[in-house]
Amino acid sequence: MSVANGRHILAMPGPTNIPDRVLQAMMRPAEELASKTIVDLTESVLADLKRIFRTTGETFVYAANGHGGWEAALTNVLSRGDKVLVLASGRFAIGWGEMAAFMGADVEVLPGSWRAAIDPAAVEARLRADDAHAIKAVLMVQIDTASGVVNDVPAVRRAIDAAGHPALFMVDGVASVGCMPFEMDSWGVDVAMSASQKGLMTSPGLAFVAANEKAIAAHKSATMKTLYWDWSSRMNTLAYMKHCGTAPEHLLFGLRAALDMIFEEGLEAVWERHRLLAGATHAAVARWAEGQAVTFNITDPLQRAPSVTPVLVQGIETATLTDFARDVGGVSLGLGIGELGGKAFRIAHMGHVNAPTVLGTLAVVEMTLQAKGVPHGAGGVDAAVAYLGAATA
Ligand SMILES: *Cc1c(COP(=O)(O)O)cnc(C)c1O
Repeated sequence: MSVANGRHILAMPGPTNIPDRVLQAMMRPAEELASKTIVDLTESVLADLKRIFRTTGETFVYAANGHGGWEAALTNVLSRGDKVLVLASGRFAIGWGEMAAFMGADVEVLPGSWRAAIDPAAVEARLRADDAHAIKAVLMVQIDTASGVVNDVPAVRRAIDAAGHPALFMVDGVASVGCMPFEMDSWGVDVAMSASQKGLMTSPGLAFVAANEKAIAAHKSATMKTLYWDWSSRMNTLAYMKHCGTAPEHLLFGLRAALDMIFEEGLEAVWERHRLLAGATHAAVARWAEGQAVTFNITDPLQRAPSVTPVLVQGIETATLTDFARDVGGVSLGLGIGELGGKAFRIAHMGHVNAPTVLGTLAVVEMTLQAKGVPHGAGGVDAAVAYLGAATA
């Protein structure tokens, strides 16, 4: 028996639901690669990405996924043998660091918890100990999609400054940009990156990197550069050089529509919508947790991400739950990964989500817990509705 047929909902942390308007914007013929349409499209997207990252620096768009964005960021500012400090907080900064190591950087991981945010004091202490300033870059994620933690980017910047350390500050915003405040310039982030398929509501396949003056200066002397990612060639005035070849035209048309939607709603309003829908999700999980078998991964409520909530479950194979939610409930949840592998499912509430999508998703989760006999506090959906009712009154 199944009640899954109807519009399927992606409540996994990427890819996320693509708005019809974005899909329709891609439904068109290709254009000549140097046509005015493509040149203008590229210019408008690069300019609007500055508004998304909140920077007056340079923006770059690549035909790539988030991993490509990672590589683009690293290759442009590092040289082989450079020391890089990775601030662990789950899986994703570690993955970025593994990529840096593969590319020839000397990577050190500052250990962190899977259940809490990066500790800025530990960052400050490690950087103070680096008298010789051997560390060339500090890498972190704003939201770790595996642990569900939100790290405090400005607090880490203050820690770097308190240590008087000149390292480049590089932030992964794949699961956070477009979902919560990100202020590249006022927070002093030197390199930021993101991708199309999470908060930015577009098909997978585009990566974005933003670089400030300090990063561009580091780029000039970096020797890890390869032509496809190279910022200098992409800063060329010739349109096709901005893509190192033919533009990923349809993805850009889709992104254009998604950016229009974001700015029509207002970027701050988009952040607020995410905050409210995360609050509803957290209210539901808190209620389910009263049954003892279900609990939050991130213990401090203030450190829970506004875009994704990993939920720890005991006594059942987690894939049983996600299979049921998908096949019977019509909702794709994420499974736990890394240290949460086999121990958790993840509810994403990012991108093209509203009250019906999130409340519907939470209802399917509750139905799944009930159907599979997982002990849980009843009324999680009621708690979510009550939260949203009060918060929007
Ligand atoms: C999804 C994600 C990535 C990787 O993106 P891909 O497009 O899958 O390569 C990197 N960092 C974070 C924080 C993510 O959530």
